[in-house]
Amino acid sequence: MPKSCDPDEIALKSFFLGPQAENAELVRHSFQRIIDRWIVWRQSRFPDDGRAISAYDKMTPEFQSDIRRIDAMVEHLLQRFESEVPKFSPRYIGHMFSEISLPALFGHCISLLHNPNNVSAEASRVGVQIEQEAINELLTMCGFDHRTGTGHFTSGGTIANFEAAIRAKWRLSLWLSAACAGKLHKLWDGSFFDAANLGWQRYNELIRQLKGSEETLADFAIYDRSARSASRRIEATLGSYYDPVILVPAHRHYSWEKISVLLGYGRENLLTIELDQHGTASIRDLEQKIAWCRQNQRPIAMIISVLGTTEMGLVDPIHKIHDLIHRYNRSSGINTWHHVDAAFGGFFCSLKDSHGLIDEQFNRDLNSVRFADSVTIDPHKLGYVPYACGAFLIRDQRFNRIPTQESPYIDFQKSDTSHFTIEGSRSAAGATATWLTAKTIGFNRDGYGRILNRTIEATRVLRRALQETIQDVHIPTAADTNILCFCVGRSGESITAVNARTQKIFEHFSPYKESDFFVSKTEIDINCYHEFLKANFPDWYPDKDSSRLMLIRVCLMNPFFTSAEPNVSYPEAFAKSLANILKHYNASEKICV
Ligand SMILES: *Cc1c(COP(=O)(O)O)cnc(C)c1O
Repeated sequence: MPKSCDPDEIALKSFFLGPQAENAELVRHSFQRIIDRWIVWRQSRFPDDGRAISAYDKMTPEFQSDIRRIDAMVEHLLQRFESEVPKFSPRYIGHMFSEISLPALFGHCISLLHNPNNVSAEASRVGVQIEQEAINELLTMCGFDHRTGTGHFTSGGTIANFEAAIRAKWRLSLWLSAACAGKLHKLWDGSFFDAANLGWQRYNELIRQLKGSEETLADFAIYDRSARSASRRIEATLGSYYDPVILVPAHRHYSWEKISVLLGYGRENLLTIELDQHGTASIRDLEQKIAWCRQNQRPIAMIISVLGTTEMGLVDPIHKIHDLIHRYNRSSGINTWHHVDAAFGGFFCSLKDSHGLIDEQFNRDLNSVRFADSVTIDPHKLGYVPYACGAFLIRDQRFNRIPTQESPYIDFQKSDTSHFTIEGSRSAAGATATWLTAKTIGFNRDGYGRILNRTIEATRVLRRALQETIQDVHIPTAADTNILCFCVGRSGESITAVNARTQKIFEHFSPYKESDFFVSKTEIDINCYHEFLKANFPDWYPDKDSSRLMLIRVCLMNPFFTSAEPNVSYPEAFAKSLANILKHYNASEKICV
């Protein structure tokens, strides 16, 4: 008698190989077909050309010894990778990756065998089309109109964030250039701050009045100059110049530091939005920062909100942030670029309006992503797609402008995305993997929504198991998504003592060695998270002898973590294993005392 199964889970079960390779037959069959078709394709393209490698060649000692060497090294590699972190297992709950889906794997491999280069349609006949279609699917999931929006695949979220920052900077440069040119030709009169907030409409008018194309701007190309020369020129023309800033919440991903330094903003102009009691961007502080920028004439090149923070999977109040930006635009003409860094959480958009586990506020935030100027989303995180696969999306393709240098040896088509990418040569594998998941699993409630809903549920199950089993466990209650952070600390204990215990737990479950579970850890700045910690742990006051609190961090992305069928209940097993570690740790502590 087969075990019964929730019909909701069937979909889940057909999209993954399974922790025990339960779907091995299906995978073998599909790979066989993929390889066979690849071979037949090759054989049928120019069949009259004759063979380049003969049966005789294959019998020569040289050929034979090469084959043996390849064989041996393949075996060597296969063995070596058996020591790889077993990310496929529900016991891996560390970083933002777990199992990859079968459609993603097949899509990735199909593209790999044909090896298109999405740098241009000349190098990728099919790949670039697939990429555009996959981008359209992502745009639609995020709530954008795919006819007016656009985007492209990147090697990850870091590059996608760079793509956004370059557009914001380029936009600012174009506006300043047009305003300076307009001022000299007596077509426009305004301050430096007005120029920095010019807006595309006024920009286009100016370009028209300056008679012609943007080439007239070349005389005044602020964007071509060194920072020093550009600021001098602006100052000479508009009377003043102040460094532009980027506003980003304190829980930001570390890529934003790289971006502000590498794009010449300077670390000091990456202004931090403080966190509120939810651990997310404080609207009150954001408003104060915007007002400060206005008072001090500092152009706000961009404002970043985060959908799914890297540390704890929290969601910024995107809805309120959008409202605030809109309000400042109407009242003070502030024209900034709102980027949603949804590298981790973007796929939660598939849960929009599902009335499931996500609350009203989260739902509103998901529905507000569509107002953002641009979005970063990583299929190689919650898309269950193999590395390296990120994506950059932009709401209005007319704003998709970056400095480009056309290359004489690549026949760029008008539609080629390479005009718009930091990267040159790009694989189509990530796009193809994403495409196949969109067409099979589906970026909607019944597809990804179902899988992600389960992971949120799993997070709640594990929380309960920990709370029931582990004395003095502290788990912030705010987690909206599928990341859970915790530490174990008795009241009155110092942070240093709590951190030492967390370190011990991490060492036990660390991916550096073999254990029954694998977790990750993070450190939060208790000053940044002050309001959040106060709200979450009203009864727990550690002695603050350190400014950094270490937390065990688990990402519950594996779709089978709460499956009923296996012999083991993973949430319970993890809680028990943790309790065991703590028992030994406490005993050793007592001996020390
Ligand atoms: C992971 C992540 C990034 C960076 O993505 P990579 O693919 O690792 O380059 C950026 N922002 C957030 C919020 C992330 O979680």
